[in-house]
Amino acid sequence: MKGPQYQVIITDCDHGSIREEKEEFDRIGIELTLVQVREEEDLIHMCRDADGLINQYAFLTRKVLEKLPKCKVIARYGVGVDSIDLKAATDLGIIVANVPDYCIDEVSDHAIAMILSLARKTPLYNQRAKSGEWDFRLGIPIRRIRGKTLGLIGCGKIGLEVARKIAAFGVRVISFDPYVERAPDGIELTDFDTVLKKSDFISIHCPLNKSTRHLIGEKELKKMEKRPLLINTSRGPIIDEKALIRALEEGLVSGVGLDVLEKEPPDSGNPMLGMENVILSPHVGFYSEESISELKRRTAKNVSDVLMERWPASVVNREVMGKTRALFSADTI
Ligand code: NAD
Repeated sequence: MKGPQYQVIITDCDHGSIREEKEEFDRIGIELTLVQVREEEDLIHMCRDADGLINQYAFLTRKVLEKLPKCKVIARYGVGVDSIDLKAATDLGIIVANVPDYCIDEVSDHAIAMILSLARKTPLYNQRAKSGEWDFRLGIPIRRIRGKTLGLIGCGKIGLEVARKIAAFGVRVISFDPYVERAPDGIELTDFDTVLKKSDFISIHCPLNKSTRHLIGEKELKKMEKRPLLINTSRGPIIDEKALIRALEEGLVSGVGLDVLEKEPPDSGNPMLGMENVILSPHVGFYSEESISELKRRTAKNVSDVLMERWPASVVNREVMGKTRALFSADTI
């Protein structure tokens, strides 16, 4: 067992405890320290003897990585690794690992919760009922959910789970995803315009990148013939928010559910804050006690795997294979 000779450092995290991570490293006798630093010089000073790092927000730049001669692996809490200089890590033989799928249930549940809440108008009724207005007519018209069409923009892990779950409500699912060739069970693959035109509900599940920034703008909103409910649990800038506000004012969409915004938190003057057919949540889609616990355990496991000479579950810079600082016997990779 190689454990006791190694040191692992968590640069920073806001999870409140590191119980799961400690359990993982205690099991194999590896020392774990949480230092809560983010500045380059502090990172270099505190992490210079680390064999493995875990980070959340701290930027691990080339300058920092070059000063960490023993570091064999960096595991990021979560999916995104933009806080790590991947090219530098690869050049230096450091494996970078992430956890890409710890909250698929949570985000898909959140998207469905938003669709159901908007369709049944529960936030509106809740607010009105508590302020003394007990009248079912306040929210009409209300349309039946069964038989409607959900259009998914992006049919990856979360999109697929939304499709699977909403099938129980008798909803037909169509999807636009330029990178998916074969339609998954229960989903009809189609083009972007058809999703915009034919959907009663539209839910966004593609990543944010150059080609998806403002993917939904004025032109696209005008194509939404069915005045759909529009849900975004992916990333705010995928929707042009100014165009969305105009579309809401003109009634081009019937309701909007956003877990993510172009600017988080929103300005106090954002008109959507006063609209009854808009529901907002503060980028919470990923969260449950269980998802965070799983994230912490799997992040720690990515590090312990490398130090115990096992290739971890999700390596981001696979091109590092063959030139890693860590030791691997051929049959463990
Ligand atoms: P994924 O990689 O499994 O799926 C994304 C899908 O989008 C892929 O199938 C890809 O082919 C498709 N895609 C790429 N470009 C597209 C385009 N231009 N048009 C349509 N589809 C396109 O990712 P996932 O795990 O399903 O996550 C989806 C997104 O959810 C993430 O990118 C992230 O932004 C977001 N997310 C949000 C939260 C939250 O807390 N709200 C948590 C986790 C993930």
